[in-house]
Amino acid sequence: LPNSPHARDKAYALHPYTNARAHERRGPTVIESGKGIYVRDDQGNEYIEGLAGLWSVAVGFGEERLVEAAAAQMRRLPYYHSFSHKANNPAIDLAEKVASLAPAGLNRVFFANSGSEANDTVVKLLWYFNNARGRPQKKKIISRIRGYHGITVASGSMTGLPWNHRDFDLPLPNFLHTACPHHYRHAWEGESEEEFASRLAGQLEQLILAEGPATIAAFIGEPVMGAGGVLVPPRTYWQKVQAVCRKYDVLIIADEVITGFGRTGRMFGCELFDIKPDMLVLSKQITSSYLPLSAIVISDELYAGIADNSDRLGNFGHGFTTSGHPVATAVALENIRIIEEDGLVANAAAMGERLQAGLGELRDHPMVGEVRGVGLIAAVELVADPATKRAFDPLGKVGAAFFERGHGHGLIVRAVQDSIALCPPLIINAEQVDEVLKRFRLTLDDTYTWSRENFA
Ligand code: PLP
Repeated sequence: LPNSPHARDKAYALHPYTNARAHERRGPTVIESGKGIYVRDDQGNEYIEGLAGLWSVAVGFGEERLVEAAAAQMRRLPYYHSFSHKANNPAIDLAEKVASLAPAGLNRVFFANSGSEANDTVVKLLWYFNNARGRPQKKKIISRIRGYHGITVASGSMTGLPWNHRDFDLPLPNFLHTACPHHYRHAWEGESEEEFASRLAGQLEQLILAEGPATIAAFIGEPVMGAGGVLVPPRTYWQKVQAVCRKYDVLIIADEVITGFGRTGRMFGCELFDIKPDMLVLSKQITSSYLPLSAIVISDELYAGIADNSDRLGNFGHGFTTSGHPVATAVALENIRIIEEDGLVANAAAMGERLQAGLGELRDHPMVGEVRGVGLIAAVELVADPATKRAFDPLGKVGAAFFERGHGHGLIVRAVQDSIALCPPLIINAEQVDEVLKRFRLTLDDTYTWSRENFA
């Protein structure tokens, strides 16, 4: 129908991360409503949101307590900014709350709207800090291949995925990439996880030495890589990386945009590997993405470097119209209260075990190469031949087929090339985990049959 939402979306919208021509043919899936772990489209189909939207809806859809928090704050003060010494109560309360939850020594909070903006802010904070400390040459930032830190020109430069660089002349100068800690794909024949982790830390050290330690400001990484395909590093990887960074005065930035607020079964992913970051980057689950918000939590030392020099250097010249937005911060406060009071971190740990165990049973499937994950974030990598780890060629077609077939079985997942990611809301219960597993299995068998016909 010419006036249907489908026709109008096809006519007017340019979608993020979507093949525009394919979208003209396929059209949108118009999601109209959501409740708990489920969403419903305008054709009446119900799906389990197996990715919690974009790794983000911790408390599930339709959480009235967040609606109430937003409405109450809208009535009281719908907007104010934080420039020039202005503050508002929800932003003050949230800064205090986030500082109280963050790792020791991280007590100052800057608010932005998205993960990408937060990571751009990280870059500017580092550069400002090193200028303040009289070492402006200490500018370079190291991230990992397959890391994801956003899509603006600076955060996109830290992202280590080719499709975020090609066509955009990225990365910018001063952004370097080191190896991805994915043992299944990148370990040498017979190399243990421990040896692999040591080799990667050695490579990082070589990179720092080759560039000159005096030019390297920071290393940024997700404790568990998300959008790159849910890559859980070897157990000792972060300790080895951390030791190298400390040796050369390279700050550590933990990008917890996905792992923050309970996703891995811990409040923060840093706790899994005993990472002691100098900055923590948060977004997504901070509001369950009911409203856009991100936060950068910085160490006392970084703050002192910035504050001590602000008279000499002038203002920290950075900020957004909606930094510390009162409605977004009020929703975040209520969301964090729900996560704590409803025990959602412990639930993520318990339900995560059930999910990981259930997915583990797929390891014998003739199309499954690797099953990986921790807490309520997981991925299943589909391959042409599990014995040799041979990937499908071209990459991504089977993943895309799984994604589409999942809709037919009432399951929304994310396909990262041929790795199928799951990351359901933290409120999921045991029966629902079993239902996710059932639908995943049906989709897998269906996709396998299709792949036999199309990838003979
Ligand atoms: N950092 C990480 C770890 C992410 O996963 C994402 C988004 O997926 C971002 C940053 C960018 O966040 P946004 O999409 O809100 O800009």
